[in-house]
Amino acid sequence: MARIAIGGFQHETNSFAAHRADYGHFAQHRDRPPLVRGAELLASLRGNAFATSGFLDALGPDDVPVPLVWASGGAGGTVTDDAFERIVGEMVGELSRQLPVDAVYLDLHGAMVSTTFEDAEAEILRRVRAVVGAAVPVVVSLDYHANLSPAMVEGCDGMAAYRTYPHVDRPETGQRAAALVRALLARGRPAGRAVRHLPFLLPVDFQSTLCEPSRSVVAWTPPQPAAIVSATYAAGFPPADTAWCGPAVAVHAWTQVDADAAADAYLALVSARETAFHVRLWDTDAGVREAMRLADGASRPVVIADTQDNPGAGGSGDTTGIIAALLRHGARDAIVGFLCDPGAAAGAHAAGVGASVTLDLGGRHGPPGVAPLHGQFRVLACARGPFTMTGAVTGRSVADLGAMALLRCDGVDIVVTSRNVQAYDPAPFDRLGVDWTTRRIVVLKSSCHFRADFEPRAAAVLTVLAPGAYDPDPRRYPYRRLRTGVRLLPRGAP
Ligand SMILES: [Zn+2]
Repeated sequence: MARIAIGGFQHETNSFAAHRADYGHFAQHRDRPPLVRGAELLASLRGNAFATSGFLDALGPDDVPVPLVWASGGAGGTVTDDAFERIVGEMVGELSRQLPVDAVYLDLHGAMVSTTFEDAEAEILRRVRAVVGAAVPVVVSLDYHANLSPAMVEGCDGMAAYRTYPHVDRPETGQRAAALVRALLARGRPAGRAVRHLPFLLPVDFQSTLCEPSRSVVAWTPPQPAAIVSATYAAGFPPADTAWCGPAVAVHAWTQVDADAAADAYLALVSARETAFHVRLWDTDAGVREAMRLADGASRPVVIADTQDNPGAGGSGDTTGIIAALLRHGARDAIVGFLCDPGAAAGAHAAGVGASVTLDLGGRHGPPGVAPLHGQFRVLACARGPFTMTGAVTGRSVADLGAMALLRCDGVDIVVTSRNVQAYDPAPFDRLGVDWTTRRIVVLKSSCHFRADFEPRAAAVLTVLAPGAYDPDPRRYPYRRLRTGVRLLPRGAP
């Protein structure tokens, strides 16, 4: 029998976003369960689409899961000290009450920054180690966008990071973490750890594993697998202002010699592909005009990725630059998903389906260049309350985006929500009766996750720039903590 403590605390922090991720943000139900603890943690994550879900599935009949606390905040601005201390405090406090445990599994992100701790996961691991002592193995699962740090790699005994972007392998990642726990319970904590950082940053737009070079990077296996506990590649999350921001590889192995050798080999593989990391980014007007041109004669929609307002990278989900450009150029039969404006949604519900409302839509959270869109909108549909997501990334999760409305302004329809969510799942369209596949142009506030469900049914995908909290060009970030000597884009990028 093995008692395995299970906890999770995830946030992908955009240090340059103005808003803060407070405790209420983690406690709120949006497109993932709100903060859960104890038996509720097991009930809400079992059979769900998260790494913890896969971990629980993979436990054997003799394993006793010891649930601590689990909270996932998606992405956004810096995590407040209050949120960090309350959640980590509860996790570590419950862990100390539940001792002894045989192993610890933590479902982390790897790119969390709190007001006090730039390397927040390393701090979580430090506190967990202090509670469980030197003998108990600690295994983590991580997001593909983790910014691996030496302290993070040192602070755990094995890592399993997502190997897909869009992230469609979260449960499988949890299953791999469970296999790591099993190996470490049999053999003890490993002696070897190594981490190697690439000397450049990768915008998330360049990181999709649906294409090269990332596809072959995540498929790498060490030459001597028996010597290795885990070999991890993480592409990094550039808007996190930390010393160890950027792509890196990490290896846990039974000996230090084997850890170093495998990490060097993995580093060489990624380094050799540096110039291949690249995706074209269109200016707003050129991108919208190109989408309209491609839509003429296409039998399927042209998808525009509004990458700079991707809530999954810290976007406020309410910018209006691409909508304004669609209206300016007279686009027809376009649909936008999903714009977060609780006031507009409430106004639409109050007016009712069929009514016309005058609104200053969205555009309330900056950055410079973002403004509300003033106009008259017809209310085409309204909805409210929980619904089930259906896509490959969020599959089977229950979402609640509050009051939702479908608004029309000239040739552009807009799905308005009351809670901010990345447009990576078609379910919010379905909720309002929209068949997005019949539209000429579909705008999605997402950088890459949308590709899992939308790209296979699109005529083309264009990544289009318009002001938003996520800037895909790290050369414009006012880094304060990034280590010196890092190229802010890979060689070969324009
Ligand atoms: Zn991610």
